[in-house]
Parts: sequence; C-alpha cells; structure tokens
Amino acid sequence: MTVNQLQDLNEKSFYHETGLRFECQRCSGCCRHSPGYVFLSPDDLSLLFSHFTLPPEGFFDLYLRIVSVGGFYRLSLCEKSNYDCIFWEDGKCIVYDKRPFQCRSFPFWQSLLVSPDTWKNGESFCPGINKGPLHAAHEIDCWVAMRASKLIIDIPPEDTGLPSAKIMDRYLKRSQTS
Ligand code: SF4
Repeated sequence: MTVNQLQDLNEKSFYHETGLRFECQRCSGCCRHSPGYVFLSPDDLSLLFSHFTLPPEGFFDLYLRIVSVGGFYRLSLCEKSNYDCIFWEDGKCIVYDKRPFQCRSFPFWQSLLVSPDTWKNGESFCPGINKGPLHAAHEIDCWVAMRASKLIIDIPPEDTGLPSAKIMDRYLKRSQTS
C-alpha cells in the first residue's frame, strides 16, 4: 500500500475524525474455543520457527497445516481438538512475542473496519472493542497497511503434497527476517 493509498484510506474511514477505542481484556476469546485459521506470511513462519529448536519437518508436523480456503491453499496454525490455538498452553500464548501478524494486528482488520456497524458487531466476540485508550486513525491505518503488505503464503495446488521439509525450506527462504 502506497503513502497516497494510506492517506486515502484515512480520509475515507468512518473513524477518521474520532479514532477507535480498544484494549485487550485478556479473555482469550480470539485464541480459543472456536474454529478458525491463522494464516502465515513467510516472516511469520520464520519468526515462529526461530522460537523452537525443532527440525523444519518436526515444526511443520506439530504446528502447521495446509488448508483450502476460497480456492487457495494456505499455511495455517493447527488448532487443538477443542479449537484452542495450538500455541495456547497453561493459560497463555507460548509464542506471544513472536505471534503471527494476523494475531498482532487484531482487531484492526479491514473486515472489522468497513463501517461503524462492523466495528460495533466485533463487540460480540471481542470485549476489548470500544474499551480502553483511543487509537488514532493514522495508527489504525498503519495496522491495515502493514497487514496488506504481508503476503500470506499461497501454496500452488501441485505443491500441497510435497514433504513438509521442502515446504518449510521454500517459504522460509522468502522471509525478509531470516
Ligand atoms: S477477544 Fe479481544 S479482549 Fe479477548 S483476548 Fe482477544 S483481543 Fe483480547
């Protein structure tokens, strides 16, 4: 996203004048209890992988899955049988400092920022929305722009059966952080 596009987004956004309030209430609702996907960029993959001392295929087999969504194959975190995130342990996220950008940027996601209603509807699953400190429009737009700039891994259909070590090698090489 260019600087001009960012300025455009800022000027058109419903929160341009007021900003938005958000403070995480640490309810863990966005990490647990319901099924969902956490899609990874190459940078996310690299950061998470660096947190563990596992071989690439061991890391992949324990924590990752290839999912088919909307005609694309993507790399997502696994979840437990009770739908808790695979990294949720003993009441906390065990990779918090290296969590994927999708988690880091919540709730300033484009899908929640479409209108006052979509933002307000977020209160039904995130009690932190409309609470706490005010976040200025330019800060919110930076989250949106950064999320848009993180290329989520799309795996070509013919590559979905590759050995996990090969998939890890391919996408770790695309990270800007390694
Ligand atoms: S659902 Fe909202 S308040 Fe609860 S942990 Fe997630 S971000 Fe925090």
